[in-house]
Amino acid sequence: MPGTVALVVAAGRGSRFGATLPKQYAILAGRPVLRHALEAYRRHPGIDAVQAVIHPDDRDIYAAAARGLELPEAVAGGATRQDSVRNGLMALAPGVPARVLIHDGARPLIGAAVIDRVLGGLDRAPGAIAALPVIDTLKRGDADGAIAATLERTGLWRAQTPQGFDFAAILAAHDAARGRDLTDDAAVAEQAGLAVRLVEGARENIKITTQEDLMQAERWLSGGEAFETRVGQGFDVHRFGPGERVMLCGVAIPHDAGLLGHSDADVGLHALTDAVLGALGAGDIGDHFPPSDPRWRGADSGQFVRHAAKMVDSRGGMLVHADITLICERPKVGPFRQAMIARVAELLEVGPDRVSIKATTTEELGFTGRREGIAAQAVATIGLPRTEP
Ligand code: MG
Repeated sequence: MPGTVALVVAAGRGSRFGATLPKQYAILAGRPVLRHALEAYRRHPGIDAVQAVIHPDDRDIYAAAARGLELPEAVAGGATRQDSVRNGLMALAPGVPARVLIHDGARPLIGAAVIDRVLGGLDRAPGAIAALPVIDTLKRGDADGAIAATLERTGLWRAQTPQGFDFAAILAAHDAARGRDLTDDAAVAEQAGLAVRLVEGARENIKITTQEDLMQAERWLSGGEAFETRVGQGFDVHRFGPGERVMLCGVAIPHDAGLLGHSDADVGLHALTDAVLGALGAGDIGDHFPPSDPRWRGADSGQFVRHAAKMVDSRGGMLVHADITLICERPKVGPFRQAMIARVAELLEVGPDRVSIKATTTEELGFTGRREGIAAQAVATIGLPRTEP
């Protein structure tokens, strides 16, 4: 029985966004806005299940956005946000969760720290929401655009999500609030007399409403305050031996020799795996896939790359770019380069424009020049959520 469920509400149409695609499906740093939010809850250890609520017209686009996350089927939303939340709560009710965190699907930059604070608030009250104190001076304008009054801002907060509640209490409150037009779930809870705590949200936890919001989120993600950029490098060598083909960057290339190694000896993918692990500060390929382990005998090295890429994913990061250089006299890499790029992009789950594969010789100098083996270098650039000090 799931204890704490995240209900991610993404059923809106977003008329202010000015695009054919609803804003929660707009692409932010290579992934739909909604996917960022779903992933944040999926990987949080305090969340036992994630349920999305979507517009019935968005089934296909949602399926694409949530691919691979192994979430339960999305619930169809209603005419208003309040109706959509209630539909979601009713769909969760048979599982009898203890607590629910309700989150806007258009808030992609929700971090673990804010989720932690809302869960902590829920330990002390039947409701807790993320919010930020109002910093700016507040003015009330009149119909002519002149100041009618300056408002006291002390004690004023801007509500964000997640908004967390005791499940049974918020479901009952939503039932009681049907037909009343309330702007958030805390307002529904207040109407029912539930105590709701304010906990600190985060400045980057914005709701994507306009194209400018999307650009701001993109800036935060690309080396802004929320994310940091890390670069890792890898190097590998394999010796030629008997054989009729070599595996290079996931592609089998006919050759008058093979490469010796415990796995398939794909020197390009080994260098890439070490580059990604290096960017994570997570050791090297030998730590994760010891050559002493018979499981990796003849193994497809693609799984090593996938393992490293999944580690980036599980840390809430993203792979920005990979650049691999193969160093050999033979075989000629050029004819296979596009196939290699396509395979590496598939393994990393990024677009091919984020993968570069180059080849060079050493002018017949050294071991690669004497055709004794192949060397490879790789550089990987990743974005990782900044951990709080
Ligand atoms: Mg190797």
